[in-house]
Amino acid sequence: MSSKPKILLIYTGGTIGMSKDFETGALKAFNFGKLLQKIPEIKQLDCEIETVSFETPIDSSNMNPEEWTKIATIIEENYAAYDGFVVLHGSDTMSYSASALSFMLENLAKPVVFTGSQLPIGDLRTDAKENLITAIQIASLQENGRPVINEVCLYFEYKLYRGNRTSKVNAEHFKAFTAPNYPELVESGVHLKLNTHLFLPVNTEGKLIVHKNLDSHVAIIKMFPGMSEVVLASILAIKDLKGIVLETYGSGNAPTEDWFLNLIEKAIQSGLHIVNVTQCSGGSVNMGQYETSTALKSLGVISGKDITTEAAITKLMYLLGQNIPQSEFKTIFETALRGEISL
Ligand code: ASP
Repeated sequence: MSSKPKILLIYTGGTIGMSKDFETGALKAFNFGKLLQKIPEIKQLDCEIETVSFETPIDSSNMNPEEWTKIATIIEENYAAYDGFVVLHGSDTMSYSASALSFMLENLAKPVVFTGSQLPIGDLRTDAKENLITAIQIASLQENGRPVINEVCLYFEYKLYRGNRTSKVNAEHFKAFTAPNYPELVESGVHLKLNTHLFLPVNTEGKLIVHKNLDSHVAIIKMFPGMSEVVLASILAIKDLKGIVLETYGSGNAPTEDWFLNLIEKAIQSGLHIVNVTQCSGGSVNMGQYETSTALKSLGVISGKDITTEAAITKLMYLLGQNIPQSEFKTIFETALRGEISL
């Protein structure tokens, strides 16, 4: 029997496996079998690789909780048989998917590495080969017969990040992602530099629990100077809305005008969960630091601290699907469940 690590490559779609439609010139997803033919090098890797593909690969703009559940189910069904998982995914919504999967996979004790590329694998100047090959290498890292990494990560352009700490920040550069509030877990240079002190500790006792109940009755509201009462009131009045990520200014600041605070107060009293997340790409919400956030704090707005919007919205969907008592929701949201928040 081979003792090489076994890796399952899960192809969901994205540029990495796309080709040009000759009529329109637009990129569209194509057959996964062809994708692997384009990188015969992966056979040289010191691991066993098997592949599974979405029946219909998608551009990641079409990702949603149903598709996340498909990815989670593939991992669940193959969990015992593999040492690690590499998910090939479009870069556009990869940070949302990596965040969602981090919450859906509780007690994960194996690596799940998301990767993709800015250029299709068949393109001469493609970034796909390096991303794919190194993602597989990282997913197969082992020590004393067990995986070194035990969390949902994202590998892109020489860096492995904690998935729920990332955002896509560039549609042009190969370096398309950052994790502004958490250093990279692995840097790929001549050698792989593992920052092991930053890895999530493994829980080998607990069994993998896969949470598939995500509640999409949520919205993101980005504040801007001049936002009118009618706009905010209309959003807050949406029937069955249960949670909102409110993107505020700086360290969590928002207008102090009466109409604004009254709307927020009424919404929270009616049971809506409002999470304060900063519009800044780095740094943390700190309600109470300025007068412009003190009222939000006293009204019971949840502090997203240094969470990304991607992780905040998916954490809301996950927690809303858990039937958590109203009185505990805020405390649980403000707790780091998968390393998504600095405490
Ligand atoms: N539109 C593509 C997607 O997200 C872009 C990419 O793969 O990088 O599926």
